[in-house]
Amino acid sequence: MDAHPDPLASDDDAPVPGPVLHQGYAAAVPELSLPIAAAEPPAPAIAWLNEELARELGYDPAWLRGPAGISLLTGRVDAQGRPLSDEAETPAEPFTTAQAYAGHQFGRPNPQLGDGRALLLGDLLDTHGQRRDLHLKGSGRTPFARAADGKAPLGPMLREAVIGEAMHAAGIPTTRALAVLTTRERIAPRRGVTPEPGALLVRVAASHLRVGTVQFAAWHHDRDVREALLAHTLERHHPAAAGAQNPALALLTAVRDAQAELVAAWMGAGFVHGVMNTDNMTLSGEGIDYGPCAYLDRHRPGAVFSSIDAQGRYAYANQPGIALWNLSRLGEALLDLIDAEDPESAVARATAVLEGFEPRYREAFAAVMACKLGIPLHRPEAGAEVEVLTADLFALMEAHGLDHTGTFRTLTDDGADGVRALVSAAAGDASAAGGASDLEAWLDRWEALRERTGVGRDPGLHAHLQAEMEQANPRVIPRNQHLEAVLRAAELGDLAPVHAFLEAVRRPGKVPPDHPEWIGPGEGGEDFLTFCGT
Ligand code: AMP
Ligand code: MG
Repeated sequence: MDAHPDPLASDDDAPVPGPVLHQGYAAAVPELSLPIAAAEPPAPAIAWLNEELARELGYDPAWLRGPAGISLLTGRVDAQGRPLSDEAETPAEPFTTAQAYAGHQFGRPNPQLGDGRALLLGDLLDTHGQRRDLHLKGSGRTPFARAADGKAPLGPMLREAVIGEAMHAAGIPTTRALAVLTTRERIAPRRGVTPEPGALLVRVAASHLRVGTVQFAAWHHDRDVREALLAHTLERHHPAAAGAQNPALALLTAVRDAQAELVAAWMGAGFVHGVMNTDNMTLSGEGIDYGPCAYLDRHRPGAVFSSIDAQGRYAYANQPGIALWNLSRLGEALLDLIDAEDPESAVARATAVLEGFEPRYREAFAAVMACKLGIPLHRPEAGAEVEVLTADLFALMEAHGLDHTGTFRTLTDDGADGVRALVSAAAGDASAAGGASDLEAWLDRWEALRERTGVGRDPGLHAHLQAEMEQANPRVIPRNQHLEAVLRAAELGDLAPVHAFLEAVRRPGKVPPDHPEWIGPGEGGEDFLTFCGT
């Protein structure tokens, strides 16, 4: 892996009109990835290109759509970014790499995971000066593939693109798709007997470092490798912590805080990740690997949408606890870097950091919910008031079968009266008169709290909070039934619906002109299950 160029080398004479890729990770920690060439995909064609993101990275979308751009997207370039010729044999020194990682899957340790069907195309500096990874999924088997085929079906790759755009539009840290490509391949079906169209996903991430990466280093490598990984991770994601007295503890603290914020944002949005294994939890704090994930329709703490999560381990309301469980595994993997001399002291110090998760999470969640509820946080007691109000509202939403996203948007657009009407409609006319007094009482409390905080008297504050509510409470989210319908159309060869859907989730405050139905749940969303791997 020494063949990789210096990540700080100049791009001046680059043959690519845009940033040239480096393999900075392989250069920093060569033991944690393998140089693996991308197989040449049959007839790759762009199914969707994220033009906005392409420009942010510094690429011209039109160039990316051309043959040289497709070579870059599919990993068919050499270390200088020059396309490999069609006849080229697998290069002796491939530029792309497969990353090794381990992880706890559904609570059980797996010492050997890694990029089984994916490759790191490289890293680059985007137009904001941020270092980002480009990653290719579905590119064929690697030595980490175990028994699986190394391929990716079109539906799940488009699904990952849609969720990433929805997250980004909501301001939630996320990996994003740069492109989804189709190939001429038909691949083994996940269900049934009909082969599925094969696809490739090109993903952009702050990095692909995971809790599972640190676990892999802890379980298989010597201290020098673990230290190199720690230094690289801090430099890349948490530079403020790089000079800390105890860098490993500083990393645990930084990841704790980033994940507390991320999961708080998911909980506010009603998002269920579905596979919060430690290999699917990043050290950057970005959401990653949107496979069997879904947004709530009706608010249900126990909501699970993944066909493989039979125990409900990753149910909606379990997610903060699971984040802490995963962070505890990170802490374990860092113990001897925290204090090699005194294991008891290492455990005590890691535990103290982990005990900080709950207050961090609660603070982050209260901030998310204050925005959603239009309550200013400028008084010391406001956070606690928002927590109580939220817990009570969630319980009522569950009891009355209210739609998570719809309820908050109604509160935003039509206030308490809007929600009263919603409940009457949900309960039917017979019980409307007296059937929802608990919810009435909650709406009175919400209005009273808003009054107390001066929202009614201060037009400037009112406008500010209203704008925050509109941003925090989308009309359009990628609801299960609608997403499934547009993915099914794509699988049958019609990409227009998923293109329209992607545009809709990118403008979440707007009713999609041709598809007003996308703001509602559609039929049968509660029983929806996803089957995709991640
Ligand atoms: P995930 O579902 O993202 O948690 O992935 C778990 C592990 O399975 C990772 O090591 C993946 O690279 C691997 N994997 C998932 N699907 C495939 C596939 N079709 N071919 C090869 N490896 C796969
Ligand atoms: Mg994964």
